[in-house]
Amino acid sequence: MQTSFTLAQLADPHVSESEKILRACVHCGFCTATCPTYVLDGNELDSPRGRIYLIKEMLENDRPATEEVTRHVDRCLSCLACMTTCPSGVHYMHLVDHARVHIESTYRRPLAERLLRAVLAKVMPFPQRFWLALHGALIAKPLAPLAEAVGLRRIAAMLRLSPWRRPHRPLAPQIFPAAAGAEKRGRVALLAGCVNDILAPEINAAAIRVLTRHGVEVVLARGAGCCGSLVHHMGREGEALAQARANIDAWSAAGRLDAIVITASGCGTTVKDYGFMLRTDSAYAERAARISKLAQDISEYLASLSLAGKPQERALVVAYHAACSLQHGQRITRQPKDVLAKLGFAVKDVPDGHLCCGSAGTYNILQPDIARRLRERKVGTIERLRPDVIAAGNLGCITQIAAGTDIPAVHTVELIDWATGGPCPSALREHRPAAAMRPFTAAR
Ligand code: SF4
Ligand code: SF4
Repeated sequence: MQTSFTLAQLADPHVSESEKILRACVHCGFCTATCPTYVLDGNELDSPRGRIYLIKEMLENDRPATEEVTRHVDRCLSCLACMTTCPSGVHYMHLVDHARVHIESTYRRPLAERLLRAVLAKVMPFPQRFWLALHGALIAKPLAPLAEAVGLRRIAAMLRLSPWRRPHRPLAPQIFPAAAGAEKRGRVALLAGCVNDILAPEINAAAIRVLTRHGVEVVLARGAGCCGSLVHHMGREGEALAQARANIDAWSAAGRLDAIVITASGCGTTVKDYGFMLRTDSAYAERAARISKLAQDISEYLASLSLAGKPQERALVVAYHAACSLQHGQRITRQPKDVLAKLGFAVKDVPDGHLCCGSAGTYNILQPDIARRLRERKVGTIERLRPDVIAAGNLGCITQIAAGTDIPAVHTVELIDWATGGPCPSALREHRPAAAMRPFTAAR
């Protein structure tokens, strides 16, 4: 695609990076077929190609973002299916990230939207604040239908997504030694994350059990927190970079690490991008690149260990939902399914698995209608497989899908933990009490 940025514009490293990306696009339109928002409504401006044009116009003319550009960029899930499809290697992620920063600094959103975004940005990445907010949500949750009825759709979506159970306290910084007797196989930092530990502590607990059981020491580094993706996707770049720097400092001070293991694939995609995000920061660029190289999804790391499971009498049928951040953002497609299959599960791919479930960080709060339609579509394809359980590598997807089906949804690592000697995942136990009472070999 031809561009017409001036030399003065190109002196800005962010603009010059976006210009390179724009030039790679040959406007073939292959990406439209796999874009969830285009698949739903068929609007070119809600396709990757349409958004690329809008972003090009905005950046090239150095114009403040308009309501139209903001609307179509806001509807983008950052699912990155377009990057998997694109034959020209267009790095849409970096382009849309730049566009979001430009929108955030040049467009004034309506007051209610500004308030909602500010609350999300100032509460969710901070475990103590989020923990308190969830107590409030627990009380207000029954009011979700009323909020919907009076037109507060985003508040209703937030209440519906909040859990019925009391939130948990986040894990304190500490070291979990490798299990006694296990052959020592490594030392990793685990990103506990901001939301995971409070909403679903069973996920990190399962990861810690699997890792230590297989001879890996696990460090929860002091000072590590939210990866920054939540605010990064809102264009709040200063906050995102501050959170990234805090993690880099924390992990750099944690001693020798073989990997930084992440159980939320959305966070993993961002940590793997720290090197790019901080490339112009001379104090952090080198360390950020090193941290990005160390980052691994839990399934990626576990695939490199040879895990031993017990045989199952009758394999549990697992519908594997590939989180967009894992399959498109990190290009990890095979490893989670391979590990599950090796441990005796009957793994089924979800048809149209390249399409997002509608979770996408805070998307299901900010764009509740599109998110609901994507969930209905995803749940329909999953239920046709008639699985015993749904597995995914991202809490956002698990929460989003579980809100639309009675089939239990768990994190992949919970199944891996169960199959290698850990407890039955709590979501399965609640749905199938009998399964929990039997050993893994007779799970059904
Ligand atoms: S597939 Fe790639 S090159 Fe073709 S329009 Fe989409 S982004 Fe551009
Ligand atoms: S990231 Fe996803 S929603 Fe956004 S343009 Fe690409 S395919 Fe469409």
